[in-house]
Amino acid sequence: MSHIVVIGAGQAGQSLVTRLRVLGFAGQVTLIGEEPVPPYQRPPLTKKYLLGETEVERLYLRPEIFYAEHDITLRLGRPVSAIDRTAKTLRIGNDQITYDQLALTTGALPRRLPAAIGGDLAGVYTVRTLADVDAMAVEFQPGRRVLIVGGGYIGLEAAAVAALKGLHVTVVEMATRILSRVAARETADVIRAAHELHGVNISEGVGLDHLTGKGRVNGAVLGDATAMELDFVIVGVGIDPETRLAQAAGLALENGIRTDELGQTTDASIWAAGDCTSFPYKDGSVRLENVGNAIDQAEAVAANMLGAGQAYVAKPWFWSDQYDLKLQIAGLNTGYDRVVTRQGSAQDHISFWYYQGDTLLAVDAINDPRAYMVGKRLIEMGRSPKSDVICDPATNLKSLLKL
Ligand SMILES: Cc1cc2nc3c(=O)[nH]c(=O)nc-3n(C[C@H](O)[C@H](O)[C@H](O)COP(=O)(O)OP(=O)(O)OC[C@H]3O[C@@H](n4cnc5c(N)ncnc54)[C@H](O)[C@@H]3O)c2cc1C
Repeated sequence: MSHIVVIGAGQAGQSLVTRLRVLGFAGQVTLIGEEPVPPYQRPPLTKKYLLGETEVERLYLRPEIFYAEHDITLRLGRPVSAIDRTAKTLRIGNDQITYDQLALTTGALPRRLPAAIGGDLAGVYTVRTLADVDAMAVEFQPGRRVLIVGGGYIGLEAAAVAALKGLHVTVVEMATRILSRVAARETADVIRAAHELHGVNISEGVGLDHLTGKGRVNGAVLGDATAMELDFVIVGVGIDPETRLAQAAGLALENGIRTDELGQTTDASIWAAGDCTSFPYKDGSVRLENVGNAIDQAEAVAANMLGAGQAYVAKPWFWSDQYDLKLQIAGLNTGYDRVVTRQGSAQDHISFWYYQGDTLLAVDAINDPRAYMVGKRLIEMGRSPKSDVICDPATNLKSLLKL
């Protein structure tokens, strides 16, 4: 009987094995995860979970019993340490497992600060796993001082939780402004204003020089020589694809595990999906770091492992919750040359539409689900309404879908 093994029990791995069963695959399925818990959602980690508003079990994508009920062998708590592509085996501890087809859904690793500038001091946290967030949660006590290094979505979400819990929060962003890699100045301005309203001190264009403390962090010196005392540090300076196994196995890499449009790596028996994967997109290739891609790509790969032969076409979307701001993003803004603003029906409903020439690339909608929904559909349909039509408050957005 054919055996499909999936390495990485996260969002993509869970979607992939579930899809195999939905599509009627009757062979053996094994899902292997290094973390000791069943596959779970990461987005709430810096939102409701860190706020203490949701239980850990509610993070699980499926209850543990689901896997047994669908005859999926779930092996948790130990990493796969090597793949032998010739023998088609892999190693976990002293065990050897044989596969017919293999999928890599190994996700990503958070970047750390170098030890030379204090990155290995106690009280310095990265944010990727449930264990990471459980470890830092005890630090979130009113009146404590936290430094957040990096003004991207993860750092800013953690900053919002800390501010809501009554901590003194400083964010340092080395680039000239927060969210510079992922969003336009207009979106960043709204988010920055919300943080400032909640008392968060945001320093832009200033990097961290080094952390201070013996054994445990107690302060920081910034690039402009400002010194500060603090109780703990959260590092949100991006992620790198987890490619170590793939690299050791000799698979081609290119900002992630390289696949073709079907999700197949340079070994015909090995596939990849999710944050670890770079794949063809428009005229080049892309690696996406979001839940929507992890699910859709994994489901496409499951079908292709069973012979569907359908190219995966990514339809990027993302969201971030900070205070009472619900930011929803559709499309990829890479290459935009202008951004137009649409004011929604209420003061705090606003959306920013990214254009390259006359082509609509992406939409950031803040507290405006209709703008998000219409923007997402327009981008998926390849339609680009004129930007003055978008900005005109008299335009009924939904009517643009009917033209
Ligand atoms: C705090 C946080 C907030 C986020 N918020 C959002 C959001 O609001 N919206 C959004 O769209 N996305 C968000 N994301 C991103 C989203 O969670 C990821 O894009 C998604 O989890 C990717 O799924 P994945 O399966 O590729 O990787 P992961 O979910 O990281 O799963 C990979 C798994 O593989 C395991 N693994 C790696 N190597 C091995 C090995 N050798 N052996 C066994 N197991 C291994 C890892 O331990 C891990 O459990 C957030 C991420 C974080 C960390």
